[in-house]
Amino acid sequence: MSEQEDNIVLYSAADGVAVITMNRPEYNNAQNGRMTYLLDDAFKRAVADDEVKVIVLRGAGKHFSAGHDIGTPGRDVHLSQDRVTMWYDHANKPGAEFLYVREAEAYLGMCRRWREIPKPVIAEVQGACIAGGLMLAWVCDLIVASEDAFFSDPVVRMGIPGVEYFAHPFEMPPRIAKEFLFTGHKMSAQRAYELHMVNRIVPRAMLSDEVNALAQEIAKMPRLGLALTKQAINFAEDQQGKRATMDAAFAWHHFTHAQNELVSGDRLSGYDGRKMAAENKAKDK
Ligand code: ZN
Repeated sequence: MSEQEDNIVLYSAADGVAVITMNRPEYNNAQNGRMTYLLDDAFKRAVADDEVKVIVLRGAGKHFSAGHDIGTPGRDVHLSQDRVTMWYDHANKPGAEFLYVREAEAYLGMCRRWREIPKPVIAEVQGACIAGGLMLAWVCDLIVASEDAFFSDPVVRMGIPGVEYFAHPFEMPPRIAKEFLFTGHKMSAQRAYELHMVNRIVPRAMLSDEVNALAQEIAKMPRLGLALTKQAINFAEDQQGKRATMDAAFAWHHFTHAQNELVSGDRLSGYDGRKMAAENKAKDK
């Protein structure tokens, strides 16, 4: 691993709104393990601060997030982390156990934990929101996108049935979710809006102002009212099968990581960030 990057997650809070910023713009905010745990720290800080009523999650630079880090110099999947769920350390485990344990904690576990944050969270999405980026946007309660935002989950190319937080059939109608996954094509902000996956679309230059105004408005509501409203709607989604679907999909997801390793010797079927980006570009030309 290269020397540790500084300030890869930024935090600020004012007027009832905490703003958490992924700050690896040179890597399109690819999420390495360190960023994941720093995001968790930032969310905890915002939850603990009684002055904070609403949380905004955003990405610095041109893109919200290109997904999980599968190829920057700061990739750190092999490192132990100070875990937040009751899973044991993945780093010294053999075979399929290594990635299953890591993703149970750092991907599915973290995303579920963040979905349950007892304060409204708004995703501010510009540019690319790909794969692991989708997971972060989807755990937020509201999504405000700029006109140039786009969404995609191209991991079926690796032989894997979608990202670990498998919310696709809840974020869009099932037939559209299949097309989204089968093709790996980009979905425009406009299409995502039509499908009710995003709440609002605004010009890029107005994105942060729009999100801030929305956050300020929500921040005037009572804290417990907001928390319980969020719980009620999340509960309804889980009654519709969201949580159970993710449990099943996570097992299938890990069957394919293991299958990839058996067949090609690589859990990601030989793909890294560069190769995925090149094939995404060719597809969406
Ligand atoms: Zn995975």
